[in-house]
Amino acid sequence: MNVRAVVSKTIDQVGNVLLSPPYGGFGYYYNHGPRTRRAVAFTFDDGPSRPCTEWLLDTLGELGVKATFFCVGLSVQWHPEVVQRAFAEGHVIGNHSMMHSRKAGLMLRGGAHIDEATTAISQVIGLRPRLYRPPWGWLTPWEGQRLHQRGYAVIGWDIYPDDWKVPEVPAERLVAQIKPLIKPGSIILMHDSVSNQIRWEKTETARAVRLLTPWLRDEGYEIVTIPDLLGLPAYARV
Ligand SMILES: [Zn+2]
Repeated sequence: MNVRAVVSKTIDQVGNVLLSPPYGGFGYYYNHGPRTRRAVAFTFDDGPSRPCTEWLLDTLGELGVKATFFCVGLSVQWHPEVVQRAFAEGHVIGNHSMMHSRKAGLMLRGGAHIDEATTAISQVIGLRPRLYRPPWGWLTPWEGQRLHQRGYAVIGWDIYPDDWKVPEVPAERLVAQIKPLIKPGSIILMHDSVSNQIRWEKTETARAVRLLTPWLRDEGYEIVTIPDLLGLPAYARV
């Protein structure tokens, strides 16, 4: 490994320990819902992509499940019709930054990475998203303030299976990772793309959803969107 790679890997590791998932206490950050209601939320990051997001929408439609998609602005511009479809089918669209840069959120000044994605999403669905998930979950206090000032709630997670790995981890293994961690209020983070990939043919995430859903329902859980789980507005008028 060369010096640059070592430095980059060290920054990743330190950032993951210090900043991801971000710690609460600011009044606008959530990594789970109330532990008193038997409900959980599926969230999907880094899309939209084709055909992966479309396969996932087919699966969710068949199962009658509504989910929350944290979309990357650039990918929204690539696939506006996929975002439009997800929105029309009752899923919630959240902001996952314009380019999935972690560095942008670490800077003391700026905010274009948030605002450009707000605009990209608003242009497709006609509403301004009010839920934001930082790339990698990295959240500095000043980035939190920027988001809060813009009316965003910051959404983390409490369950994060390995469905982002390439090659893909089989759905059975993902489900085995998720099941023991499920609690009332859990927010499950999965992926419908790899960030900044225009085309993605992932299948195991949709398969995991297909395996998990009947099990969760048998256990008495509702599967709801983030606004439903947290009692927060999904959107504001443009
Ligand atoms: Zn992401």
